[in-house]
Amino acid sequence: MSEPGKLVIISGFSGVGKGTVIKELMRRYDEFFFSVSVTTRAPRPGEVHGREYLFLTEEEFQELAQSDRLLEYAGYTGSHYGTPADPVREHRQQGRHVLLDIEIQGAFQVRERCPDALTVFLIPPSAQVLYRRLVDRHTETQEKVRNRMLRSAEEAAYIEKYDCILVNEDLDTCVEQLHQVIQHPEMASHFREKNRERARALQEEIRALLKEVE
Ligand code: 5GP
Repeated sequence: MSEPGKLVIISGFSGVGKGTVIKELMRRYDEFFFSVSVTTRAPRPGEVHGREYLFLTEEEFQELAQSDRLLEYAGYTGSHYGTPADPVREHRQQGRHVLLDIEIQGAFQVRERCPDALTVFLIPPSAQVLYRRLVDRHTETQEKVRNRMLRSAEEAAYIEKYDCILVNEDLDTCVEQLHQVIQHPEMASHFREKNRERARALQEEIRALLKEVE
């Protein structure tokens, strides 16, 4: 029987490009399975049920959560999100590394249940870049962009609790560093230390930027 696959949790501020990094990692390497989450938020243009998310009603979501079929779940800017437990377990058993794109509350729940999980936080090169990416994707109203930036400012306080911090400035570099850390988890702390100061500065930058755009 093959070795069980690893569990890799990827978090990062809304707009940092987690989805793009994950897609590119999976395009380059075939040992990964992406865990499709359930959510109560509405699909964005171009999103497909079963590919980006399983889009559920609030009742459907609560039923899943209460029947203990979610590995974790959390609220995020007015909607619920959760990770179906069965696919994660089954794919790991088959030896594939499972990727979770989840926010911090969920990440800490998973770490409680699966202490061997590797946690990675992606940060943008600057707060300005993050803000522009959110505005330029034209999927959120100005108020929602602001709420997501506010949430980022809160989340910034927890970045250092992750095993690894990576900067998504150049996609190619970020994808290769992520792959390296998954292959060699002992390198995670090297990247955390390297990017720690940048993560701290970012917290201040986000707060300052939020005041400017008020
Ligand atoms: P978005 O609405 O932009 O797709 O996602 C909003 C946030 O929810 C992101 O930070 C994303 O990582 C997080 N998220 C997506 N799926 C899950 C999930 O299953 N559980 C948790 N806890 N967070 C999730």
